Amino acid sequence: MSAPILGPMATPELDYHADPAAFAAAQEALFTGQNLHVGSSRVAHAVDWVPWINGLRLPAPACRQGFAGHGALGELRPTTLPVSCRRCRRLRGLYNDGEQPALFALPD
Ligand SMILES: [Zn+2]
Repeated sequence: MSAPILGPMATPELDYHADPAAFAAAQEALFTGQNLHVGSSRVAHAVDWVPWINGLRLPAPACRQGFAGHGALGELRPTTLPVSCRRCRRLRGLYNDGEQPALFALPD
């Protein structure tokens, strides 16, 4: 039987729910150097690290796209796809294809 097309690509093990440090370390291993998808969306966001508890940090979309949970149930999925979220691209200073800057100010 084949995997569901829109299923989570990387669902972390659930046995570290009781250990925040282990969970944060697992999230760091999953998302460091990656971009991320929120839920089943195909939009790739840049990863930012947000304060959680006990000085730990968790990955989140750099643009602060909302999602429910902490990523433990596959709400966030790592991806190697380039950032496609326009706000994340702007925040990271990435050039947006098709958004060529004007060479001179246009008259109003
Ligand atoms: Zn984004």
